[in-house]
Order: sequence, then C-alpha cells, then structure tokens
Amino acid sequence: MPSTKYIFVTGGVTSSLGKGIISASLATLLQSRGYSVTIQKLDPYINIDPGTLNPYEHGECFVTDDGAETDLDLGHYERFLNRPTSQANNVTTGRVYQTVINKERRGDYLGKTVQVIPHITDEIKRRIQLLGNTGEFEIIITEIGGTVGDIEALPYIEAVRQLRWELGEDSLVVHLTLVPYLAATGELKTKPTQHSVQKLQESGIQPDILVCRTEHDLGEDIRRKLAQFCNVKKEAVVQSIDAETIYAVPILMRNQHLDEVVLKRLNLPIDDNLDLVNWKDFLYKLRYPKLEVEIGLIGKYVELHDSYKSIVESFIHAGASNECRVKIRWIHSENLSLDNIAKTLDGLDGILVAPGFGERGFDGKIEAIRHARESKIPFLGICLGMQAAVIEFGRNVLGWEDANSTEMNRETSYPVIDIMEEQKNVTDKGGTMRLGACACDLKEGSKAFAVYRRKGISERHRHRFEFNNKYLAEYEAKGMIATGINPDMSLVEIVEVPEHPWFMGVQFHPEYKSTVANPHPLFVKFVEAAIKYSESLKA
Ligand code: GLN
Repeated sequence: MPSTKYIFVTGGVTSSLGKGIISASLATLLQSRGYSVTIQKLDPYINIDPGTLNPYEHGECFVTDDGAETDLDLGHYERFLNRPTSQANNVTTGRVYQTVINKERRGDYLGKTVQVIPHITDEIKRRIQLLGNTGEFEIIITEIGGTVGDIEALPYIEAVRQLRWELGEDSLVVHLTLVPYLAATGELKTKPTQHSVQKLQESGIQPDILVCRTEHDLGEDIRRKLAQFCNVKKEAVVQSIDAETIYAVPILMRNQHLDEVVLKRLNLPIDDNLDLVNWKDFLYKLRYPKLEVEIGLIGKYVELHDSYKSIVESFIHAGASNECRVKIRWIHSENLSLDNIAKTLDGLDGILVAPGFGERGFDGKIEAIRHARESKIPFLGICLGMQAAVIEFGRNVLGWEDANSTEMNRETSYPVIDIMEEQKNVTDKGGTMRLGACACDLKEGSKAFAVYRRKGISERHRHRFEFNNKYLAEYEAKGMIATGINPDMSLVEIVEVPEHPWFMGVQFHPEYKSTVANPHPLFVKFVEAAIKYSESLKA
C-alpha cells in the first residue's frame, strides 16, 4: 500500500482567517478526485476538550459519533466531506500533556527527565499519525490551531518540522496568511505575509503553498513578489478572496488549481476525473433560491452566531434542498416575555428553540414555545428546546403550574424532565454527559417516521437530563406523544403534538449530522413545513 500523505495547514498574520474552511475545501477537492481524505485539528489550549468551554469563548462544541466533544471546525470537516470524524480528529494540548503525565506516573519513561522535546512533541507526532495508521485514508490534512509565533503553538510547529523531515516528499505545508489592503494608498501589502513566512522559516519550516486571504485580486505582480520573497513557486501562491458563502471556497480554490499543485507536490497522480457536479448543483440552489422563509432561532447565546454554527449550516443545507433561502431571525430568549412575544415573533414561518444549559433565558423559551404551539407555527426544539417544549406542555396543557426540569428547579412538584439515573453520581463536568451516537426507534405512522422513512435511526446526544417516563401516559392522553424511544434504556428521544401541523422536540442534536451531500431530513422537513405555513398565510 502506498504511504499516507500528510498536509499541514498553518496560519500566520492573524487568527480567524479560516484555516478550517481552507482545509475542508482542499479536502473536498482531493476527495472529488477519488482520494480518501480526513482532516484533523490540533488545538493549542490546555483544556482537555472544548466541552467545558462557554460558547462565548469558542463557539459551538461539536460532538462526534464516538462522543468526543470537539472544536467546531470538525463540523465543517464533516459537512464538506460527508464523512464522520472521531476523537482522533481533535487533539488539544491538555490531552497531549495528560497522556504524557499519565505515562510518567506509570513509570513508562524509565527514569528519564520528561521534557517538551522529545516527549511532548513525540506525543503530538503520534497523534498526528494515528489517523494515517488506520489505513483508511490516503491523505491526512492536519490543521494547526492558532497563529505562527504563538508561544503555545511552538511544540506543534516543532512536531511538524520533525515530521516534515521524516516524511520528506510524503508531506507538505500550506501556510494561510492575510494580504491586507490599505485603502489610503489603494495597495495590497505583502510584508505581513513575508514576516509570517520568515517566522515559520525560523522554526525550520519552509511552506510549500501560500494561501492568501484578500479582499481584492492579488494580480500577477503580488503573486510573483510573494513567490520570490517566500521561496515558493508562483503557481503555489493561491488567493482566497472573500466569498459570499464558505461553500464557494472549494470552487475558488479549484479555479486556481490548488488541488493539482498539492497532488503534484505529493507525487500523486492527477487524472481528469474530478467530480464536483453535486457540489455545484448545491451551490446553484443556494445562490438562486426560488422562495424565502424566516425562522426564529431562540437561544441565549445569540450574540455570537458561532454558538449555533451547526444549526445555521443545517438550515443552509435544508434551504438549498428546498430551493428556499432560510433567513434566520436571532432572538435572545432573555428578552422574551408574555407582553412582547407576539410582536417579537411576528412574521416568522418557523420557530426553533436551541440547545442550552441553565436557567438564564429559560422562561422566554417557554413563552416562544407556547406561541408556536397555540398559533400553529412550525416548531423544532433541540435538546433543551425539546425539554422546554415538554415543560411548556406540562404547565399550559396539563395544568401543572410548576412543571420543570430538575436542572432549573430541584424542588418542583412535577419534575417532568429529570436527571438521568446514570448521571446522579457524576461530579466531574468534563466529558461526563450522555454523549455521542445513540439508537432510537421511531413509531410507525408518526411525523418522525415520515421524516426519516425508517424505524431505526442513530443520532448524537449531549445532555444529562431526560423526559421523566413517570408522566408519559398523562402527556400522551392530552396530546403530546413520544414517537422516538431509545431501545436500550426506554428513554424518550422525540416528542410530537399530532394535532399541530408540525411540532417536534428532539432530545438529540440532528444539526451535527447535516452535510452538503446529505442535508438532515429533520431540517429539510422543518423548512418544508415553514414554506407550507408561509404559503398558507398568503392564500
Ligand atoms: N441542559 C440540558 C441537559 O443537560 C440540555 C442540554 C443541551 O441542550 N445540549 O439535559
């Protein structure tokens, strides 16, 4: 079997240039040529994983099938490649150090002094090669978080230097930089890129390809200048001009032959079979929608849209599949009350109550759900959104005034959402929720069954609380039914209100599984319901 090829993606000049999107776009192009590719993210922070991070710190926490709580870039990787990632695709400094320290405690280092080099760098190298060693992938793209020159990224950069040396032609480095435009002089400036490449070179790494973020076309002169100053070939200076959607980036990269430059450099065959038909079809539908609906996204982190990244992207996929633009109205649940609810939600074609934790803004979510249920507006509640729907129904239909989740009120007389048995003795916060893929059986004849069109499904979870089965019979008698049940533990995973045109709450996170190639059916059908609702208002 030919050896696995490794592509390292580093960043310079500033953070937030979109290394994740560039990595995912390059991977998409290579995959469209028939190569099996995966992407890995190395995060230089000391948290073991982002699971304990507040979304304001780092945006959404993405969850994989194997229950890893990971960086939101892994969501992009899955959405672009339509291939699941796993714990091995996200490495943090915390995890690296934890492994090394555990080994030290076991005595595995046989009395040696344990140091950043070689022990930490060896562990980083081992983790980079883990995916390659599975034999599943021909190409591994490793994105190094942070910016070259960051103190905390140093061991990663050193590990890359060593691997480049060991792997030789089986590896290459793509460096992503910024070429700023100075409006005062009307010029694009190359100096920041030159300096960041010099910084890489000081660490012993010569980039093979420069991808330059820019607001304006670089032109021949700038490309030549960058090639000359940075020791790269001119065709290896690629511009990444601001795009109207991240999904256009693979095509922009393709137009500059980034895939061919990479394959040539890695000595991999380049044939003419490049299949981007479906991707382009998706882009076309995204660009030229025939309809528009507006969905209210209700949560408590709405100031930072990245907190709900996968939900937003799922709407983009589902919108394209319905040839419909989905406009999102961001609504802070803390600002919602009985007095302003009708006005704030006026004109919406659908209402989504987002996942979340804790009491802040919870009452606003309840009000929004009551409005959606009573006014027959399509509704989707995800995780805490589903739990809130159960609580709302308990309070306003079953008449249990203080129905609640024990997460919000331990003393409630109707704990309709309660902590799971297995969670009761959990004290550590990190990595201890019910996480990752779990099976769910759907009830035939239900809306959920019509959405998925099969009985057995698997979806990803991230929670500690659950529907309390003690109350199920009373709920079902009054019109909220459980239509998705976990077969192993009898946990309620989906609730519906059959007399409402489209009211669904799901304990799992469908947004983690929506991809360009496979828009999630729950989002597709929810958008379809919103279209129907909007048309019924016009009729
Ligand atoms: N806080 C709720 C729980 O732990 C919901 C979690 C979520 O929405 N991801 O069960």
